[in-house]
Amino acid sequence: MKKTFRFGNSDVDFYFEEDFSSLGKIADPDKTILLTDENLNQLYAEKFQSWKTITIKSGEDQKVQATADHVVRQLMDLQADRSFLLVGVGGGVITDLAGYVASIYMRGISFGFVPTSLLAMVDASIGGKNGVDVGMYKNMVGTIRQPSFILYDPHFLQTLPDHEWRNGFAEVIKHASIKDSSLFKELEQNNLSDYRKMKKEGLQLIRKNALIKIKVVQQDENENGDRRLLNFGHTLGHAIENQYGLSHGEAISIGMVKASLISHQLTGFKKTERLVHLLEKYGLPTSFTFDKEKVIRVLQMDKKKVNHGINFILLKKIGKAVIQEISIEQLYTNI
Ligand code: ADP
Ligand code: ZN
Repeated sequence: MKKTFRFGNSDVDFYFEEDFSSLGKIADPDKTILLTDENLNQLYAEKFQSWKTITIKSGEDQKVQATADHVVRQLMDLQADRSFLLVGVGGGVITDLAGYVASIYMRGISFGFVPTSLLAMVDASIGGKNGVDVGMYKNMVGTIRQPSFILYDPHFLQTLPDHEWRNGFAEVIKHASIKDSSLFKELEQNNLSDYRKMKKEGLQLIRKNALIKIKVVQQDENENGDRRLLNFGHTLGHAIENQYGLSHGEAISIGMVKASLISHQLTGFKKTERLVHLLEKYGLPTSFTFDKEKVIRVLQMDKKKVNHGINFILLKKIGKAVIQEISIEQLYTNI
């Protein structure tokens, strides 16, 4: 099912509940190159065999400039010119890299995504942000540029490992917390293994969450307003993620709990326990001991930093988030 959404000046075609084979109808096989990782290439060699494919190692540590350079080299070896299309088939690392490389290769070629992880489906592939990490600083270098299309094939999720499901649910719970109290209730009533069957609830969950993200980004592509709410749990999350080798979902789960506790003080938010309970239900950690000094130092490099403090996302109630500037000192005493 195709639905087109406009982001700024770009139209993005979303193909929900499709099959990977439909890619043949969207993209010209002679002028298309897939970018994927070793895991997926091994699992889905048959699906990919009729496409020119660049494969990189899997893992967040590959999301660096050196990998982008390597992909550029391979594109040159494959004699890709400006009329080529680069399609990222994989999780968030792959979609971020594919969007970034496509944005800089020959000053920009077209690109599309086939997100294969829950996290990439509901979050990472949507919104046009792409880029690479620099040391422990996440997404320090990148561009905002929209893909031509995003093709969803839920079959890929059959091979998604447990911990990657949990990662994806961290973003789903984030969406519910900041934008959708009825989704929050739905998540409280259901559980991961029900959704995982990819029957009606699972398919709807993906579409619902993709739409939450689409709507927020449509209203604010360049992150001056509401899009910043999507950073709920991410400011602190990013500061501990690479430093402590946590997965993105684990890091933002911990970040969301800290942000709710701070919310309790600053907005009077009263439902931290409900959030903690929901995160635990979906197998996510809700507390973690870290070196405060070190984390504050990383926070000071954060892109959300303003003159005297940091723009922090707080909850007012379940389904309603607000942005508030808080000082580094305030943060220090509360984390
Ligand atoms: P993200 O969690 O942002 O989606 P990655 O791109 O690193 O980040 O993907 C997470 C891991 O899950 C990677 O090791 C990747 O190879 C693996 N993966 C992604 N999609 C699938 C899938 N459908 N089946 C099996 N493994 C997958
Ligand atoms: Zn995230």
